[in-house]
Amino acid sequence: MSQTSLADFFSPDYATARRRFREAATRRGWKLSAYPIAELGPAGEELTIDVAVSPGSSGEQALAVSGGVHGVEGFLGSAVQLSLLERERLVDTDLANIRVVLIHGFNPYGFAWLRRTNENNVDLNRNFHRDPADFLGAPPAYAQLDSLLNPSGAPRRWELFPLKLAPAVLRHGFDGLRRIIVEGQHEFPQGLFFGGSEPQLSRTIFAEHLDQWLGGASDVAHLDLHTGLGRWGECQLLCDYLPSPLQRRRLQRAYGAVGVDLLDAEHLPYLPRGGFGAWCAARPNRNYLYACAEFGTYSGYQMLCGMRRENQLHRFASDAPVTHPVKRRIKELYCPSSIEWRRRTVECAGRLVDGAVRMLAELGDEGAR
Ligand SMILES: [Zn+2]
Repeated sequence: MSQTSLADFFSPDYATARRRFREAATRRGWKLSAYPIAELGPAGEELTIDVAVSPGSSGEQALAVSGGVHGVEGFLGSAVQLSLLERERLVDTDLANIRVVLIHGFNPYGFAWLRRTNENNVDLNRNFHRDPADFLGAPPAYAQLDSLLNPSGAPRRWELFPLKLAPAVLRHGFDGLRRIIVEGQHEFPQGLFFGGSEPQLSRTIFAEHLDQWLGGASDVAHLDLHTGLGRWGECQLLCDYLPSPLQRRRLQRAYGAVGVDLLDAEHLPYLPRGGFGAWCAARPNRNYLYACAEFGTYSGYQMLCGMRRENQLHRFASDAPVTHPVKRRIKELYCPSSIEWRRRTVECAGRLVDGAVRMLAELGDEGAR
């Protein structure tokens, strides 16, 4: 496939991405399901989580590829899924015995409205607590940063955010500050990294249908695609749980062989509270090998500024169109317009899928012995 055509898998908006995903899955003869959420998109369109499952695969192994847990990050997830649906060899030969499940637009509201969070300003990757008692609290230092991170007024042309942030950086260090901000909080519903006060609809849909999508597969390789963390165009795999030693060896071998490093809960610079991966990995009766694939875009500081400003706009001008400069900026931050970035990330995600398929094939061979 040519370099340019890899970038062509990116769609300009949620509605186009959804249509292309559904059309490609239908052409393949995959089983399609659409799960609506009670919200509409910018053009009044229906918002759904769309799931495509490969046909005739009753195997013991399943590959799941999800995107858009963080709404606006769904452009890459959608492009990768479309590229997989167009890949003749992968779909028809390698995966004959592997069930493939593609979950498109996990957070369709955020995807359509160019937000990281969902219709309730919830960060879905902070919403997967298993104990209801955990939907409480915030890191103590977050409360001190709230007025800085989540200003109580409409965006102004000039703000002194960098100056105001400097004392916090001096006090906590950059890594410490990042941990305080991004671990997740449940006390500031309009703030950044709000994990919600209860399970959200996207989580409920996923939890209710996962067993049906995966069928009887005992081994699951799940790649959850994200953008915005790490160096420009580079990928790293993050596991917000502790795999067993055997699982860790398998994951590291599978993805190391395609040139991507994997960090588990012991080595992550911070651990999200209520993370999606930890919930998936705890599924009973399955060897569930989850990895969040993060593709770097802009610097951590640029991401924080963009997120903060978009959240401020949403809070004080919720009717702002998706063409607003602040919205265009957040889209660029999570889905750079650079052809090179787009080509490189889709190509790398394709290699990750190859690694996952090889890992599943090995597991299948071991099971057959
Ligand atoms: Zn993300």
